[in-house]
Amino acid sequence: AAMRESRIKRTKTVCTYCGVGCSFEVWTKDREILKIQPSPEAPVNGISTCVKGKFGWSFVNSKERLTKPLIRKGEKFFEATWDEALSLIAEKFTDIKEENGPDALGFIASSKCSNEENYLFQKLARAIFKTNNIDNCSRYCQTPASMGLIRTVGIGGDSGTMKDIASSDLIIVVGANPAESHPVLATRIKRAHKLADQKLIVADLRKNDLAERADLHIHPKPGTDLVWLSAVTKYFIDQGWEDREFLNTRVNHADEYIQSLEKFTLDYAEEVTGISKKTLIRIAEMIHDANGTCILWAMGVTQHLGGTDTSTAISNLLLVTGNFGKPGAGAYPLRGHNNVQGASDFGTMPTWLPGYQPIENDEIRTRFEQAWGTELPKNPGLNNHQIVEAIQAGKVKAMYLFGEEMGLVDSNINYVHEAFEKLDFFVVQDIFFSKTAQFADVILPAAPSLEKDGTFTNTERRIQRFNKVFEPLGDSKPDWFIFQELANKLGADWTYKDPSEIMDEAAKLSPVFAGVSYKRLENWESLVWPVAPDGTDTPLLYKEKFHFPDGKARLITVDWTPPFEAGEEYDLHLNNGRILEHFHEGNMTYQSEGISYKVPELWLEVSPELADERNIKSGSLVRLTSPYGHVKVKVWVTDQVKGKELYLPMHTTEGMGAVNKLTSSYHDKITHTPNYKEMQVKMEVLERD
Ligand code: SF4
Repeated sequence: AAMRESRIKRTKTVCTYCGVGCSFEVWTKDREILKIQPSPEAPVNGISTCVKGKFGWSFVNSKERLTKPLIRKGEKFFEATWDEALSLIAEKFTDIKEENGPDALGFIASSKCSNEENYLFQKLARAIFKTNNIDNCSRYCQTPASMGLIRTVGIGGDSGTMKDIASSDLIIVVGANPAESHPVLATRIKRAHKLADQKLIVADLRKNDLAERADLHIHPKPGTDLVWLSAVTKYFIDQGWEDREFLNTRVNHADEYIQSLEKFTLDYAEEVTGISKKTLIRIAEMIHDANGTCILWAMGVTQHLGGTDTSTAISNLLLVTGNFGKPGAGAYPLRGHNNVQGASDFGTMPTWLPGYQPIENDEIRTRFEQAWGTELPKNPGLNNHQIVEAIQAGKVKAMYLFGEEMGLVDSNINYVHEAFEKLDFFVVQDIFFSKTAQFADVILPAAPSLEKDGTFTNTERRIQRFNKVFEPLGDSKPDWFIFQELANKLGADWTYKDPSEIMDEAAKLSPVFAGVSYKRLENWESLVWPVAPDGTDTPLLYKEKFHFPDGKARLITVDWTPPFEAGEEYDLHLNNGRILEHFHEGNMTYQSEGISYKVPELWLEVSPELADERNIKSGSLVRLTSPYGHVKVKVWVTDQVKGKELYLPMHTTEGMGAVNKLTSSYHDKITHTPNYKEMQVKMEVLERD
């Protein structure tokens, strides 16, 4: 028994699912995962995990894993050596670049992969291929939240940590469902609400788990959050409750902004949002009574035509009420993927080098050029929405995508698939033969987090290390290693022995990561950026100054953009989001037996009123049609949704297909994030019983 016991290996890792960033030990014997063991020392979660972190790992040993490079010949894929596959990519990308210019190439990065891998991918795009056409999946979810914060307070991230959320007097959750999407954080909120008398307001179309227990659940008409947020801000100021000293000393453009609120009267807000004046006043009073207010939000806010503006309105409200720079207060966009924060932080964006340093700034770009020994393209590149449009227009001809299921998660996917087919050359790097991979010319087999070293950054800007548990399966390789091999095929001389050297380089070039090193991230240690050269990190932002040259925040005037209307025949509003057990397109959770056994199928939530009207019940089969496509799905009648509002989980199943067959190509006007949450559909009954 002792012998057997000694083969058990314990390795600290970080969860590969949501942005909460739980860390724990994984106990293994050879390739067998014995258990997930949380530790009180884990900085975010302590001894807690959720179902995905605990049971969602068997995908790493799935028979469906890609283990060899594949090259397309006609309609079929054939196994190839790494040398053949990488040589082909080098040759094709070089030819296309020489013929059409570097901006005929597009690069899509991964929010599931590490900071170091994202750093290296943007270096590959910029330094080797000379294009800034690079983006990541935050364009589908969180870029409007980041932008709303960048333009008001300067940093596109949570202003404090989850400890601040738990210690706050008042939590306002807008368009987010932490109980299913960020479960360990939701548990903290529930505990604080129950034991510490924390007050909770939830604004959501659905009566989700947190809404059920909230002191106040409001149900604004779809797409009207900016209006009630602005009306509450105006009422607050009209009462003279604003934090005058804070506004006078720490904020720019206050007078201009206050004037712009004139139209957001309680009467106007009641009419547009459907929330009564009394309730709006109550929200303002609750903020006034609290010592600190945290506002949490997610895709219910961001995935709209006015997603950036609504995120800005949230930040404006927090500024007017003096809720930045103190414990238990602030702005908390809730990141979806494990590393959606880090992918953007480390530069896989068309406008920014790592550490949010503008590519157009000559001084900054020169610093990178000197370090990398090559000239870099100056003009901002295309984001992933624009890349799809440019493929459709014949301008982008080749694309390299890693760890991203763009063929399911982008909106209006029939249109996106059409674009994939127009590409002259398409490289997909993943752990599975994804939907997107079916359109590829070369598929490269990558390694998941348990098979490599690296760091992830969670929603609170916390950088944590994960460690290799076992060797990559078959011939698969870590993503960073693949990028290095390809760069070297193209004449570079990259010699990173392991990801710690990549992090050292990123830290040297980005002031906000200056003090980040693997040495400072050993065991359960973590760092919340910005990190000073001496290793001092910043769990709470804006204590003394905001992230602008003059140290002052900016109140930004915003107006309401009414939601998209598909036309009268589309008479139902379709909302979408996650369920607890599954994750995004489901590529990992459907390959994890325990989870797919528990929740094999997805359901369309229909209100009892609508079920009566259409004479359907739980189990009926319906077809939903939008102007862009249709899906078939089974009905679940529940009072979680109201009236003519439907809710469909966004995870995809074979039977149903993807929710994004229904979504449009319309998007937030500032960031181009699709308006996934502004979907109208019609419903036909296929089987009543
Ligand atoms: Fe993983 Fe998020 Fe669950 Fe934590 S809450 S275990 S990070 S999925």
